Amino acid sequence: MTVTKVFYHTDFENHIPTLNNPECSKRVENIIDLINKENLTNLSIIEPNKINKELIYAAHDTNFVKDTLNKFPQNDDIIYLDQETPVSKGSLDSTLRAAGAGIDAIDLILNKECRNAFCIVRPPGHHACIDRSMGFCVFNNVAIATYYLINRYRFSNIAIIDFDVHHGNGTQDIFYENKNVSYYSTHQYPLYPGTGDVNEVGINNIFNVPLEAGTKSAVYQDLFDEKIIKQLIIQKPDFIIISAGFDAHKDDPLANINLSENDFSIITKKLMNIAKEFCDGKILSMLEGGYDINALERSMLAHIKTLQE
Ligand SMILES: [Zn+2]
Repeated sequence: MTVTKVFYHTDFENHIPTLNNPECSKRVENIIDLINKENLTNLSIIEPNKINKELIYAAHDTNFVKDTLNKFPQNDDIIYLDQETPVSKGSLDSTLRAAGAGIDAIDLILNKECRNAFCIVRPPGHHACIDRSMGFCVFNNVAIATYYLINRYRFSNIAIIDFDVHHGNGTQDIFYENKNVSYYSTHQYPLYPGTGDVNEVGINNIFNVPLEAGTKSAVYQDLFDEKIIKQLIIQKPDFIIISAGFDAHKDDPLANINLSENDFSIITKKLMNIAKEFCDGKILSMLEGGYDINALERSMLAHIKTLQE
């Protein structure tokens, strides 16, 4: 068994929102070469399929999904699904493969073809709400994958951990009253999208850890242990899903949290220990943000190297 499957497709380079959009194809276009240079023996790379559209409806309003699928341009126009979510001709295939990656990864993990998976996808997903696209996100990849685990495989105690520097308001929205899912987020606060206060608790299944601008590694790791790991030990999840955004890196231009790529290794290891203890190591991780290209590449490599250990 390969320990880790990495999902990637060159379609993810053809979602080209606008010039100068920080969520650009450069974020991912070198990563496969960089992974290959590492000669990691416990890992293999695989192309995701486009999702069966029916599976998107589980996480989103049906009319919203249908309307959105009809809005993608066939020509060179740029269409704005929301103020920060422009899409181009290549965006539809990219969007369908981004969501499809989570589905394919879950099937492989549950068929024991790998222990965990990292999906290097664009567009990201965690700001996409039940009935709207938002903040670079068209559909909520992680939420769609979570519903697939619930509906297809009958999981009932899933943990989603979101360490992107922005609050995953879309994921929180979708699972706010869902007893099968707990959502944990560390994020700079206040910052876009403005949600993520500690008082937003759902049915005691939402755990928000707001961070002050300037937060450094030691403080972050202590909070992660105190607010997230301790609660995960209480929850005893049967599957772990990670919204892996790397924009809490100190070099990131969109926020002011001071983590390094080594911090992402440490967080990954902590979550792997939880997964090992409670769910046979099963982890699905999906890329969210991260906008300094070099920092993002180094951080993704750190995450992947740890996952495949
Ligand atoms: Zn982000």
